[in-house]
Amino acid sequence: MIRVSDYERVVFFTGAGMSVESGVPTYRGPGGVWKEYDYEAYACQPAFDRDPTNVWEFHNYRRGLVGACAANRGHQLVAAAAEQVSVTVVTQNIDGLHQLAGTQEVIELHGSLWRVRCDACGAREEDREAPKAVLRCACGAWWRPDIVWFGDALDDASIAGAVSSIGACDLLVSIGTSAVVYPAAQLPLIAREAGAKLLEINPEPTPMSAIYDECMRGTATEMLEALCR
Ligand SMILES: [Zn+2]
Repeated sequence: MIRVSDYERVVFFTGAGMSVESGVPTYRGPGGVWKEYDYEAYACQPAFDRDPTNVWEFHNYRRGLVGACAANRGHQLVAAAAEQVSVTVVTQNIDGLHQLAGTQEVIELHGSLWRVRCDACGAREEDREAPKAVLRCACGAWWRPDIVWFGDALDDASIAGAVSSIGACDLLVSIGTSAVVYPAAQLPLIAREAGAKLLEINPEPTPMSAIYDECMRGTATEMLEALCR
């Protein structure tokens, strides 16, 4: 039985399954709320270049949905683990719920729904406004959601931060990520090469389950309750 308190430097690597119990909608699968939007058509740079108002309408809709969600017990347990051990969260989620629960060290591989950037002047801002009212930077150009969209490259600094913290951890806990796309499929391997213990938390097996030392099958919250006792 793995316990967080038996380790020193823990990385929680989280995906959509981490936020399911908060009610954060997923893009795919049954009950997806994106039916009225062709998601890929609204979350890519060409769409933004063509029609920023339309893309902002979609992202303000997302802000409204996600802004109504609270951090769940799992997010809180991850934040509380930092009282015992060094904790870094590497997340594929853009919902900001780890920070809301109080985790300090969060690397957001896919950006944040709550951050905007201006590609004209380089400005960046963070807010939790839903809907966001001011859609233009002080320089006059459009704010762009600071999210990794379809076709975007991942942010180099985020990748470097993730690789460095994962390479230095002694326990990697993957939570709620199906681990089939880059970098989800590669990052756990870095931990394994560095000699860390690897734990997967997910209700079902994933294509990457075989590389983990142990797998806990259940919801993020239930499994974290056991792991963080
Ligand atoms: Zn600007």
